[in-house]
Amino acid sequence: MEPDVKKKKLTIMLAAPRGFCAGVERAIQIVEQGLKKFGAPVYVRHEIVHNKYVVESLEEKGAIFVDELDEVPADAPVVFSAHGVPKSVPAEAERRNMTYIDATCPLVSKVHREAERHYTDGHQVLLIGHAGHPEIVGTMGQLPDGAAILVETREQAETVECPDGPLAYITQTTLSVDDTGDIVDTLRRRFPNILGPRKEDICYATTNRQMAVKAIADQCDVMFVVGAPNSSNSKRLVEVGLNAGLPKSTLVQRAVDIDWDLLGNAATLGLTAGASAPDILVEEVISACRERFDVTVEEITTTTEMVEFKLPRILTA
Ligand code: SF4
Repeated sequence: MEPDVKKKKLTIMLAAPRGFCAGVERAIQIVEQGLKKFGAPVYVRHEIVHNKYVVESLEEKGAIFVDELDEVPADAPVVFSAHGVPKSVPAEAERRNMTYIDATCPLVSKVHREAERHYTDGHQVLLIGHAGHPEIVGTMGQLPDGAAILVETREQAETVECPDGPLAYITQTTLSVDDTGDIVDTLRRRFPNILGPRKEDICYATTNRQMAVKAIADQCDVMFVVGAPNSSNSKRLVEVGLNAGLPKSTLVQRAVDIDWDLLGNAATLGLTAGASAPDILVEEVISACRERFDVTVEEITTTTEMVEFKLPRILTA
């Protein structure tokens, strides 16, 4: 008889909250309800949320993902992703008489309205965020071309040149709480009268997931963040792990992608997931760990989320 090979012990500290936020839940439900109401196919402009597993699951149900509206037949329903779209996109859909459903997260729409309000009030708008991210493209696109100035880093906040006159800042919803605080402090020091939101526009889900990682980081040897490489809030969670002194903090898309060497002699693995990553993928990572280690899971909950967003009326009427 083969002797039992004793597995090494591994404690998984599971951060909570983690994974899906209310905006992502709503966006996925919009596509699913759209399929029920209109039948397949329902077109979706851009990844509905930044997660391959979610996108592929919706494709199996009859969603077709496209990059631009001109790839959608005029008589087919189309959903706009949770990240928000420039004003030109619904305008084009209306011009073509299309049925469209806007899955923009209400917390992103709130930033859109702030941008418009500041602009109409005559303020130069500074937008804190990451160039090229769909949310930034959508928020910039609420204003005329070139109207908003993008600030990506504290260094840029230190040197950005603004026209004379009143200024206001707004932020992407999925930024690092700490880095954004530094950028805002710099802008406020340079431009004491700059207007901004009472709290920055970083959403509750992004904030809570970062706080949950901070709460467990000093008890962990390694941090895994389940999420996609194009997911802003997932990448920020990896940075929180790195900044908390865990140099092996890593993004994990699926269990098969795990670099097991990272766990080396680790006794405790921190585990969380970005707001667009379903819990089934977290379970998959835990199962893969169980195959190799004698695992104990401890969930550490730093706050409980009760946020829910209503579906658009076109799906409920
Ligand atoms: Fe909305 Fe925040 Fe979720 Fe983005 S991460 S969809 S802003 S709740």
